[in-house]
Amino acid sequence: MKASELKELRYKVSDNFYLHEFYVSETYPDLAANMEVEIEDVVAISILVHQIVQPVRDFLGYELIIGSGKRDDALNDAVEGSEESQHLLAEAADLEIAGNIAWKVYHWLIEEFSNVIGQCIIYLNQNGIPRFIHVSTKTYRGSRKPCGEFLVKYGGSFYRFAGSRWDS
Ligand SMILES: [Zn+2]
Repeated sequence: MKASELKELRYKVSDNFYLHEFYVSETYPDLAANMEVEIEDVVAISILVHQIVQPVRDFLGYELIIGSGKRDDALNDAVEGSEESQHLLAEAADLEIAGNIAWKVYHWLIEEFSNVIGQCIIYLNQNGIPRFIHVSTKTYRGSRKPCGEFLVKYGGSFYRFAGSRWDS
């Protein structure tokens, strides 16, 4: 099944999220719609949503937009994602949370979710203001990934904010 067929299916992964919300791209909607939906990815998205995304939505108490979820190679290349990106494994999502509330969510994730998060990156704009938060689960299918690693991305650099463990 193609991702373009998901919307009609209205497959709910949790209280507030439909599966099609994780097959998106604002800049490359056609590539997003053309992705093949694999059952392994649906499982990975369910884990990501129940461990991290829905709890963040509950913490916020209002609508939470997913800027990027699952990516296939074509979409990941187009957005210049890392070759090792957990988006390729449907284990990561970019949460559209901007401004000061993003720092609040980030600190709350450090306090409460270090054990379930693989990587959490807060992306800042030129003025140092949060644009969105990337979250991923510990990897289930990929190579060894950091566990409970919290980073800040500003300009071309990543800054370590908290955590440095590796999953065994
Ligand atoms: Zn991301």
